[in-house]
Amino acid sequence: MPFTIAIDGPAASGKGTIARALAARFGFHHLDTGLLYRATGAKGGDPIAAARSLTPEDMARDDLRSAEAGQAASKVAAIPEVRAALVAFQRDFARREPGAVLDGRDIGTVICPDAQLKLFVTASDQVRAARRAAELGADPAEMLAQLRERDARDSQREAAPLKPAADAILLDTSDLAIDKAVAVAVDLVLSARKST
Ligand code: C5P
Repeated sequence: MPFTIAIDGPAASGKGTIARALAARFGFHHLDTGLLYRATGAKGGDPIAAARSLTPEDMARDDLRSAEAGQAASKVAAIPEVRAALVAFQRDFARREPGAVLDGRDIGTVICPDAQLKLFVTASDQVRAARRAAELGADPAEMLAQLRERDARDSQREAAPLKPAADAILLDTSDLAIDKAVAVAVDLVLSARKST
């Protein structure tokens, strides 16, 4: 049976970096599920039709990482039909051998409730805004306002809101260098593998 790791958390919490590092360390496939919503938002037109017709080319656009694409993603992500259109692809991905790491907002709660390991990665608002500002070369105060707006929309929506699964392990990266956070996550995978 493939081993599935579900990683959720707010923007710039470090979940993507941890997910990529775990996939590399264990030879697992990695899916950044935020890209599905970013590509849907960037495609324009009717978001439900966009989600239903996403292509690998849509996912490979080079403008998907911008702050604007993040805001557009969070708006289309609140539409239940958009989310429903993307479920099967994510669940199929999660079953790939020998294992898969998926990061997003609802992986442990909705997409992979049976994942062998669920992590919920957080960091303080200020730390997350500073990270994102450094990454995008943007103003930290503006990033803070944007992240707060996006987190509020993601946490308060009716459809699959951002929240930890009941059995998720919380990992706060506010005061952890990224290599330390990855080391903690690697240990958690090793213990979960022993017990499954
Ligand atoms: O993770 P990322 O910042 O790329 O996600 C962009 C937006 O996509 C999030 O703010 C959220 O609204 C949405 N999203 C989601 N569910 C996921 C992944 C992302 O609703 N599993």
